[in-house]
Amino acid sequence: MASDPYSARCAAALEGALAAVPFYRGWRALDPGPDRPAAERMAALPVLSRADLRAHVPDGFVRSGFSARDGFAAGEIEIVTTSGTTADRASVVWHQPWWDRSLREAARVHPALEAVYRGPHREAVLTSPMCTGNLCHVGELPVAERTLGNLLFLNQELDPARWDAASVRRMADELNGFQPDVIEADPAYLAVLARACIRSDTPLHQPACISLTYEFPSHLHLREIRRAFPGVPVVSSYGSTETGYVFTECEAGLLHQNTATCHVDIQPVRDSRSRGRLGRILVTTLGNPWFELLRFDVGDLARLHGGAPCRCGRTDGLTVEAIEGRARDLTFDTRGMAVTVRQLDDAIAAADGLLAYRIEQSGPRRYAVRYVAEDGAEEALAAALPPLVRDLYGPDAEVTARREPTLAPEQSGKFRLALTTFEWNVEELFA
Ligand SMILES: [Zn+2]
Repeated sequence: MASDPYSARCAAALEGALAAVPFYRGWRALDPGPDRPAAERMAALPVLSRADLRAHVPDGFVRSGFSARDGFAAGEIEIVTTSGTTADRASVVWHQPWWDRSLREAARVHPALEAVYRGPHREAVLTSPMCTGNLCHVGELPVAERTLGNLLFLNQELDPARWDAASVRRMADELNGFQPDVIEADPAYLAVLARACIRSDTPLHQPACISLTYEFPSHLHLREIRRAFPGVPVVSSYGSTETGYVFTECEAGLLHQNTATCHVDIQPVRDSRSRGRLGRILVTTLGNPWFELLRFDVGDLARLHGGAPCRCGRTDGLTVEAIEGRARDLTFDTRGMAVTVRQLDDAIAAADGLLAYRIEQSGPRRYAVRYVAEDGAEEALAAALPPLVRDLYGPDAEVTARREPTLAPEQSGKFRLALTTFEWNVEELFA
């Protein structure tokens, strides 16, 4: 099954998990066997869900010979539970050395990130306070209590719309004092800070690079971030608490898989429901005996890169053109074809004066766009948005537009750009 070292590691992960990890006992009979190609063996297996993790962490995913109880006692592992709706919530066996390795290996894809993570560095983190692993807190904490070694956690509010001038000043002062080499940020949060600093003429420390993660980076976010950090490389980094770092954007703008700590299958969306190499991201972890995942459905979609290899020259693992957003944030055009968050963002985020938006689809042809406008742009956006939405979803789309003072994040701290108010079954999209 395995000719090169990467394929050999994938085969070993598959065979090791089926043989020695309790949860996969029931999957063994589905494996077509070691004489079949790795891809065929993987594709024959089911998809692992967050519900499976919630029901079987920790012991279900720890390799036999390792004891979760001993691991906790020795401080090797801990349980991390992420926040959000029930469907989003995850329980993860956290093994810090593996996580650190995943971060370092993924950083090698982009020269600016690699230069930072190769050696000692300072890192500032700006996300929802619910998104930063064990540091879940909301409310005022002195800077010393938000500093963990080389890490500074900047934010204390669930909704960045609640940052007042003093909060913005505090974060800018802390960045300027801490002088991080890298800012790891949720793009929606960093965009709000960037905009506030530009408007108030507040100087901001310029790091060696910015890594965007946690949620989909809208063109709206990138526009503000690039204005506040001109010339600083802004790199998209994709991963999850369960899987570590999975894809990193290279200097040529495509995303490459981290083959050191994961294998990825992209399970295609049926041709009848979408066009062009779109699929969901299924991750198999490599080299972490404390938490062995096979074909874990992160809940996000990616579009595979087709045609010639990337200009950067990397050919290891998968190359994706883009992360397309969450599967449950898909909407549908009037003919029933799936529209991803990225397709939506490409279509409407360039509208002049648009600060934030969300599409809500309530029927096969009914769409409401809620939006936040810059001062003075309200009228122009009210006229411009409906035609942009119809161009994307179909000329027979019924579109309403409503201006909002702000749009709040979800309970998880993530901002949702698209949703449907009717029930549909995500599993039906996949071949
Ligand atoms: Zn590349």
